[in-house]
Amino acid sequence: MEQQKDEVKNLKKTLFLEKKHGGTVLDEKKLQAVEDFSKNYKLFLDKCKTEREVVKESVAIAKSFGFTEFDHKVKYQPGKKVYYVNREKAVILAVIGKNTIADGARIAVAHIDSPRLDLKPSPLYESNEIALLKTHYYGGIKKYQWLAIPLALHGKIIKKSGESVDISVGEREDEPCFCITDLLPHLAKDQMKKTIAEGFSGEDLNALAGSLPFSNEEGKDLVKLNILKILNDKYGITETDFLSAELELVPAFKALDIGFDRSMIGAYGHDDRVCAYPALRAILECQDLENTAITVLVDKEEVGSDGNTGMNSAFFQYFIEDLAKQDNFEARHVLSKSKCLSTDVNAAFDPNFSSYYESENSCYINRGVAVTKYTGNGGKASTSDASAEFFGEIRKILDDNEIIWQAGEMGKVDKGGGGTIAKFIANLNIDVVDIGVPMFSMHAPFEIVSKIDVYMTYLAIKSFFEN
Ligand code: MN
Ligand code: MN
Repeated sequence: MEQQKDEVKNLKKTLFLEKKHGGTVLDEKKLQAVEDFSKNYKLFLDKCKTEREVVKESVAIAKSFGFTEFDHKVKYQPGKKVYYVNREKAVILAVIGKNTIADGARIAVAHIDSPRLDLKPSPLYESNEIALLKTHYYGGIKKYQWLAIPLALHGKIIKKSGESVDISVGEREDEPCFCITDLLPHLAKDQMKKTIAEGFSGEDLNALAGSLPFSNEEGKDLVKLNILKILNDKYGITETDFLSAELELVPAFKALDIGFDRSMIGAYGHDDRVCAYPALRAILECQDLENTAITVLVDKEEVGSDGNTGMNSAFFQYFIEDLAKQDNFEARHVLSKSKCLSTDVNAAFDPNFSSYYESENSCYINRGVAVTKYTGNGGKASTSDASAEFFGEIRKILDDNEIIWQAGEMGKVDKGGGGTIAKFIANLNIDVVDIGVPMFSMHAPFEIVSKIDVYMTYLAIKSFFEN
């Protein structure tokens, strides 16, 4: 009897897919490394709330690691580290390997734009003696989540003279914030009967910008005038300058530890900085690589990856072309031999919404980096489905390097779906699979991830580069 029990136990251990909480596997030293990595990641998040800020910070860090600006006319030797910035909104970082580029590159891509509220081209208006800013939301948001929270304004204004002004208001303790008001429950009887989609419209997402008149004279638009006077004094801009500006309202809160055990991080813009930061750190720390490693941080994923700074732009191909030309190879041959991790977040099984997830095939927080064979909608529409061969290759790298990982689909088959930039990479004839961090409250102003999973994502990318 005892013997049979042991046999069942052993067979289960050998034959079953093992699903383990990372916290049961990691020792004290590893857990400390998790904590140290998280600390730096939180600092990065607080500094970088827009794609421009990520690019700026990434380049600054890269320079301190010996990276220099890429020059397509220079022939780079193995070990050289370069960066290429595309229009302040996307950046490629590469470390040249010992093998010829014709052997292909190891690429990690992540996106650095996040859902937010952009200001409309002519945003400032006055209504009932209150100055407001009209917004046009960017990416897939649940609109109600953006009401009644503190917002900060980030971005850039190009003045008539051509001079540019960087804007950041609402991040420092001594700065004001902005806020979109919500209707009080006492008067919300009718509103509460509407569906969530009907109850909140894009045109109602107007943020408070001020409420004092310019002077005590009677007149129209004096509150608006007062705001423009403040902006003119501070930045030298007029209302027309809003037209040539990119201003983004983002949540004003900082990254915070979540839970008594501080195991999780809550922050704005984890999607996808929680993969962009590991991909950045991995490339910075690469040494003596066999194959050229490339980290690509791109813009525009949340709106479909179109535009010259998105993954669908040719700028990445052009970069590969420049690398290939150095050794007289064709870019297409380099691309066809290259391999890529498309690093993006996945939806973690959420006990508060368990009916939306399929428990066997969902990913879970703390079970490590999630590898997702395919994304897409319904019947896998519009996805690149990684091959069994490539999944197998990645699985081996993860296991050989003792990285905690799990497989995970996003929610139940018919509940919806989503996509990543993997398909744009795959369309270049590159082997690619999605990996990334499982998260709660994706696309909310405050998203949650586990510290262990963030660190495992970093280790996964690093091992992939070094393999
Ligand atoms: Mn994403
Ligand atoms: Mn997203």
